[in-house]
Amino acid sequence: MRKSRRFAALAMAAMMAASVTGCQSKPAETTAAATTAAETTAAETAAEKTGAYAAGTYTAKVTGMKEMTVKVTFSDDKIEDIVLEHEETPGIGEPVCESMPKDIIEIQGLGIDAVSGATLTSNAILDGVADCVKQAGGDVDALKAVKKEVAQAEDEEMTADVVVIGAGGAGMAAAVTANQAGKSVIVIEKTSNMGGNTALAGGALNAVDDGSEVAKARNDSVEFHYEQTFKGGDEQGDPELVRTLVENAWDGVEWLKSLGMEFQDGVFTVTGGMWERAHKPVEPEGSGFFKTYKAYMEKNDGITMVYNTKAEHLIEEDGVVTGVECTGETGNKVTVKATNGVVLATGGFGQNVELREKYNAETKLWPTLDESIPSTNTTAITGDGIAMAEEVGAELVQMGNIQMLPLGDPKTGSLSGNIEHAVESRIFVNKEGNRFVNEGGRRDEMTLGLFAQPDTTMFIVMDSDTYPNGDEVNNFNEKISDLVAAGRAYKADTLEELAEQIGVPAENLVKSVDEYNRHCQGGDLEGQEDEFGRTLFTDTDKVNNGINNAPYYAAMRVPTVHHTMGGVKINTNTEVIDTEGNVIPGLYAAGEVTGGIHGSNRLGGNALTDTVVFGRIAGTNASAYTK
Ligand code: ADP
Repeated sequence: MRKSRRFAALAMAAMMAASVTGCQSKPAETTAAATTAAETTAAETAAEKTGAYAAGTYTAKVTGMKEMTVKVTFSDDKIEDIVLEHEETPGIGEPVCESMPKDIIEIQGLGIDAVSGATLTSNAILDGVADCVKQAGGDVDALKAVKKEVAQAEDEEMTADVVVIGAGGAGMAAAVTANQAGKSVIVIEKTSNMGGNTALAGGALNAVDDGSEVAKARNDSVEFHYEQTFKGGDEQGDPELVRTLVENAWDGVEWLKSLGMEFQDGVFTVTGGMWERAHKPVEPEGSGFFKTYKAYMEKNDGITMVYNTKAEHLIEEDGVVTGVECTGETGNKVTVKATNGVVLATGGFGQNVELREKYNAETKLWPTLDESIPSTNTTAITGDGIAMAEEVGAELVQMGNIQMLPLGDPKTGSLSGNIEHAVESRIFVNKEGNRFVNEGGRRDEMTLGLFAQPDTTMFIVMDSDTYPNGDEVNNFNEKISDLVAAGRAYKADTLEELAEQIGVPAENLVKSVDEYNRHCQGGDLEGQEDEFGRTLFTDTDKVNNGINNAPYYAAMRVPTVHHTMGGVKINTNTEVIDTEGNVIPGLYAAGEVTGGIHGSNRLGGNALTDTVVFGRIAGTNASAYTK
């Protein structure tokens, strides 16, 4: 659902004092008195500098994580009102859509730093407002020079039983588990909210309820999950860690359910997941996890979230990790000590171009991972935890194993705008309208296949089995009708029309679909291998049985960096191992910051499983640790 937020000038101080979080402004006269002298001065200065505006409302369209409309109303000398229509990610971009317009109005300027972890959203808002300022005849450069000034807070020291660094999926699973073990917990998070990459995920979580009817109907088992995970990573994953992952996956789902998290019925095959064993939460994307963890925290005391605080160095005393030194929001020093253990859960390094290039040079998995290659990750995912662990002697493993997806948004690299639901429902075609790869195969093989296509660009093509009414949402909570209206997806009554819209030769597209359909329906191709080795044509519930149900849909996609499988070495207790093979006492790690589980290629749907399984183990063991 598209969200609209409005912020009015002068209303801010009163709104903040009254803690109003709604989207309507208060009448100016009730709030003017509450405006501070500093705000008034800033506003006057800005107006003097800009030489004022041509009063009116101006509109700009920009792209954050998704398309966004920015409407700014100016009086002669002030930015009066900013309305954003956006669909930014809950917990990541959305809070910035609340805070940044308030800041702009408060200081009457654009000299505001992008919010860590939500750079795309922040810059989109700043660009949109700047565009409107220009349209209104204002001086953008002068406004950029008006800075938001923040006084530096006092240095601070805090202590808890367990300290968790990073409030993504693994960190929050660890925090809740430690709290369930009766421990007080402090969670240090660099950005202004919990979520990390986990919040941006499509939501698929692989887990097999061994021996259940669902598993039996799909010839699935924990053993088969093990085999596909281990072989899918070219047998590079540590077998014991892989076993720990698959054997505890279903228990992880049960645990989430015990906390109130809801999953949709049935299972599906997520891209690169290789089998129908992914569970999809009822809440969109990864938001269900954080709704669940937040609900737990509302009912249970003892977890303190410390946001906008960047962990910099682990504290080591006599060879034991006892805490972490951080930089607070205002540049102050925040020292956090643990009575029991410290859990490192800072995610991977998908947004750190330097590290990507350095380690890709070792494996040469990809032609390049330079800044021209986008990422699905939030901008906060820069490998900080890997550097911190290295400083205390941790061994890093398989750092060159970097996963790409062929499913990036052509502008941002994000997964938004990806129209597929399940592997069985769609094919990929290149700009010539031809299939080029096994679309049910491994993620690395699909992406390498895409790198070899013209303009490294492809289209996902599917029919309306997934979108019977035309206004259902994709895995990223975007309505297919909105994506079509925004030109980010295409819809047509015939394949020929669809081909014309996406600019590929119609006869090739029709041929590609025909051949795929013949495989789906058995018939004359029964027993014959697909040209690209595809085996996943129809799902067990027979929802997807060929691309033959008009209207048809397509969306353009490009390669994007998704997951870094290398990282800090751990054992099955999530204890961090040093370069000499010894445990580093007091330090635990879980989630994408760790390495050696997924090998050279991670199965789709195994990352969320990783956060829950290893996050819980880390939370349990960090709670039990005593110096
Ligand atoms: P995982 O899937 O392993 O849980 P996520 O990407 O979901 O990883 O979450 C990692 C979290 O760690 C993010 O919320 C990110 O902002 C946070 N983070 C990254 N670096 C730091 C740091 N230096 N200090 C505090 N938090 C950090």
